Amino acid sequence: MTRHCCDQMTDQVNWQCDQHDEPFSCPDALVYFAAKYQEYGLIIHDGGASVIGIEFCPWCGGRLPESQRDRWFQELESRGIDPWEDEVPAEFEDERWLAL
Ligand SMILES: [Zn+2]
Ligand SMILES: [Zn+2]
Repeated sequence: MTRHCCDQMTDQVNWQCDQHDEPFSCPDALVYFAAKYQEYGLIIHDGGASVIGIEFCPWCGGRLPESQRDRWFQELESRGIDPWEDEVPAEFEDERWLAL
């Protein structure tokens, strides 16, 4: 389990609800964490899957880790993988690629 800046953030990122399978359909879910990009966002409950990216934690005010989205694409590219066309290796679907 990824550790986050504070307990509240960790609780939110590890949100689980009996009634909703995914955070976008649950009105109580506040934060979406994209592990593979290390990006945090606030969920906008507009019926879709909208997220507003955040750089600071709404609870403790701490600066969140920098997005690794650009690196993610670079790393795949350096392996000759096109994420839109090719199959993305499993370790690139969450934060495991960062430890490669
Ligand atoms: Zn729910
Ligand atoms: Zn925090």
